Amino acid sequence: MHTKTIAQLLDLLNKRECSSVELTQIFLDRIKRYDKSLNCFITLTEEMALAAAAVEDQKRAKGQHQFLSGIPIAHKDIFCTQGVKTSCGSKMLDNFISPYDATVVKNFKEAGTILLGKTNMDEFAMGSSNETSYYGPVRNPWDLKAVAGGSSGGSAAAVAASLSPGSTGTDTGGSIRQPAALCNVTGLKPTYGRVSRYGMVAFASSLDQGGPLAKTAEDCALMLQAMAGVDLKDSTSLDKPVPNYCATLNASLEGVRIGIPKEFFQAGLHPEVEASVQEAIKVLEKLGAKIKPISLPNTGLAVPTYYVIAPAEASSNLSRFDGVRFGYRCHEPKNLDDLYKRSRTEGFGAEVKRRILIGTYVLSAGYFDAYYIQAQKVRKLITNDFQEAFREVDIILGPTTPTPAFNLGEKSNDPVSMYLCDIYTINVNLAGLPALSMPGGFVNNRPTGLQLIGNYFEEAKLLNVAHQFQQITDWHAKTPTIFEESLS
Ligand code: GLN
Repeated sequence: MHTKTIAQLLDLLNKRECSSVELTQIFLDRIKRYDKSLNCFITLTEEMALAAAAVEDQKRAKGQHQFLSGIPIAHKDIFCTQGVKTSCGSKMLDNFISPYDATVVKNFKEAGTILLGKTNMDEFAMGSSNETSYYGPVRNPWDLKAVAGGSSGGSAAAVAASLSPGSTGTDTGGSIRQPAALCNVTGLKPTYGRVSRYGMVAFASSLDQGGPLAKTAEDCALMLQAMAGVDLKDSTSLDKPVPNYCATLNASLEGVRIGIPKEFFQAGLHPEVEASVQEAIKVLEKLGAKIKPISLPNTGLAVPTYYVIAPAEASSNLSRFDGVRFGYRCHEPKNLDDLYKRSRTEGFGAEVKRRILIGTYVLSAGYFDAYYIQAQKVRKLITNDFQEAFREVDIILGPTTPTPAFNLGEKSNDPVSMYLCDIYTINVNLAGLPALSMPGGFVNNRPTGLQLIGNYFEEAKLLNVAHQFQQITDWHAKTPTIFEESLS
């Protein structure tokens, strides 16, 4: 039961072959059994989940159910959840119980989903390996020595180990796609503005975007359906009609033009990851797609540009954590200065402090033009590269990450090498485009991901291509065997 997709579980619920209470209990039992070794969850909402599942079962019996009624899911602990701890992976918010629901959380509640718990993540979503969390690292279900990827590592690993059929994540520079790739699940980062950011703890506001992680593209389509749409509480959300994402999943790929950017296949790319992309190209050609070489000439500038813009925005966003209004407060402050200093010194971890320092520096009077303004100009060049490419192709294909999952601790003391993990994902956020990562193979039992990038609001096309790919490949259906022991 636990390895079924959301679409399959909905079918069982609709045929009354299982109840939501039974389903919820199965996943809660699996979390209790397996999460000790994985560390995917920061908070489990067991009682709330079972109570909500009973309500959804009653609604279904009366024919009053919604389109995702009774499906258990997990939310990344960056989404504010009313009455539930929302830590953002930080000591700073370890005591924070949100008084309201993020719009994404509210939308999922209205669609009838059941919240199993809140998933582990890099502190304030800053990281590529889920090792900066105050609650300890998430382990990769395929190999417990390996990282799960970050920052939505708990969400990706929970789906991979079948502790939850689907989960939410956020992607500022790759944090949905990168852990999806390293854990062998499907993850979608929507167009900037497609999904409301209200109630999603802010990291870099011009880049942050929430999206789904699940076993298949079809499940991501179902989840995005619940998430997407304009929200008056987020002025950057866009008032554009939300298409029916499932309706076009089976469209033919005959004649779809897929671009392969040459800059994604240079030094640093693991040869077996490259080989998996070459294999995928053959599969897509078989499905009728036309492959075209393209160029995204400013790809190499994306990492340095992002690591100016994201810390700049983060330093400003994180100034709200001052020990006064919410979150951690130091013990017996001597005066106001001491309160600010010690609350922030004790409440934030090393990576967050590094970002605040870089961000404050690049925004400071003498350096603003040299760094921040310059980075904004390069951001425009990167965006133009994509617009140029989308004149010739419908979709861009490449690897999600340069390598499969690395070992825990391997890059923790080398921030630059950690930042380079984001080389293929970050440019997409700088341009505000939608992109999806899907399973594409294994290197020594560690998964690799394939990335599809689309033009603005082309989520349906990405899901269509991924769904068709998943009809004739079975990478996405593989599950890590160590989590298949009997629960009796
Ligand atoms: N790895 C990137 C960073 O550390 C991206 C993180 C994200 O997308 N939240 O900033």
